[in-house]
Amino acid sequence: MNDKIIPGLDLAIKSIYCIGRNYAEHAKELNNPLPTSPIVFLKPQSSICFDDDEIIIPTQSSDVHHEVELVIAISKKGKNITESDAIEHIEGIGIGIDFTARDIQQKAKEAGHPWSVAKGFDTFAPISRFVPVNKNIDLENIDLELSVNGVKRQSGNSSQMIFSIASLISYLSEIFTLYPGDLIFTGTPSGVSSIQSGDRITASLGKNLTSLTVTVK
Ligand code: ZN
Repeated sequence: MNDKIIPGLDLAIKSIYCIGRNYAEHAKELNNPLPTSPIVFLKPQSSICFDDDEIIIPTQSSDVHHEVELVIAISKKGKNITESDAIEHIEGIGIGIDFTARDIQQKAKEAGHPWSVAKGFDTFAPISRFVPVNKNIDLENIDLELSVNGVKRQSGNSSQMIFSIASLISYLSEIFTLYPGDLIFTGTPSGVSSIQSGDRITASLGKNLTSLTVTVK
């Protein structure tokens, strides 16, 4: 498989890191305790798809949820990045949806098993066109929103994150060497819910920074 390219940036996608329970209201709605350090999982590159694509509900699940998330694209190789240097390692930002087979995830949680299956199906990680970061974008104060068939289901702001974007980059880089083209899904605000065949889902970032529309097959 050839590497997929991040739309809007001239970068091939490498590892796809995701953060769980990074908004208090979302942790609460699923009856999860607040984390004391970031909860990290990965998605496979095969789960990536793009604006206008169709989302496939797998036969293995009857309860797939949308999770709208701000997504970071990493610009350069880094290990043990400090929070104050973290911004220099961001090439751009976009909006993405971390689709989750909630029924499979619930069973995995109860059994103490990994989340890879619940999070990793084909089309479970659509991403928008990315925009380069600049001084006019305040990463600590960006709105994110998701609507299903024109009805708003999720809205949040990056200021509500338990672990900031800079702290996530620093934390991940203490474990993994980060590379250009790595993506970080930074967690979802509250309002997650089931998707159905035929749904049209739109996610947007900031004041018209970028957006993503997908339909459920
Ligand atoms: Zn998520």
